[in-house]
Amino acid sequence: MDVVRIMPGMGVRSNVGTMGAAGVTLINDDVRVLVDTGHYGTRDWLKAEFARRKVSPQDIDVVVLTHLHWDHCLNVEMFPGAKIVLGEDELKEGFLAEPGRPQNEAFKDALRKMKLETVGDGARISKHATALLTPGHSPGHISVVLKGDQGQLTVMSGDAVPNYRAYLREFPDISFYDKAKSAESVKKVKRLHPDLVIPGHDSPFNGKGYVERDDFTLILRRENEENSTFTFRHTPADKPVIHR
Ligand SMILES: [Zn+2]
Repeated sequence: MDVVRIMPGMGVRSNVGTMGAAGVTLINDDVRVLVDTGHYGTRDWLKAEFARRKVSPQDIDVVVLTHLHWDHCLNVEMFPGAKIVLGEDELKEGFLAEPGRPQNEAFKDALRKMKLETVGDGARISKHATALLTPGHSPGHISVVLKGDQGQLTVMSGDAVPNYRAYLREFPDISFYDKAKSAESVKKVKRLHPDLVIPGHDSPFNGKGYVERDDFTLILRRENEENSTFTFRHTPADKPVIHR
């Protein structure tokens, strides 16, 4: 059993809004489980990352959607043969970006035409992986808990714990559904004392800090081809300052 981060999760704040890409993680267990899929804007990159690892989308047995926010689920149609796993309440009340929009129901109907299975807390996903109910960011958000043969715990926390900052503060900056539940879900993940957390929009970490550090390059494209490239690297720095 091993875990491959197919795409790193990232989140960027700018003076004109935020942007983000959800991490996509592959668990090679008795079945092959993909946790989250990313969105249209990352699809070509996702395909390239699969190809680079000599994995075909057809090889994926199970796709877990941590929740229905668009940045995590819109590439699900790349996996028409896979079982799709979703939290029970997410199918009932989840939404792509905003509740009450017709596209939410259209997307759910498309999911229902796939091999969709809704799950509750503790449901088994593969030999080593189970679902952990972590609502708040969205109505029925689930995380994936992977227990290794030596007992080591890895949590793929989606946007229940989107980044290390949320883990430290014990609440996420952004909660689209229920702030109190969001805070409780962060604590629920922390109480497991995971050896590794692979979050939705950040590099992997544990209680001691980052375990891996992803680099990101931003390219500002101008029509006259005077492009500017900025590469951001994590470097060791002071301890984060936490304000409550
Ligand atoms: Zn997200």
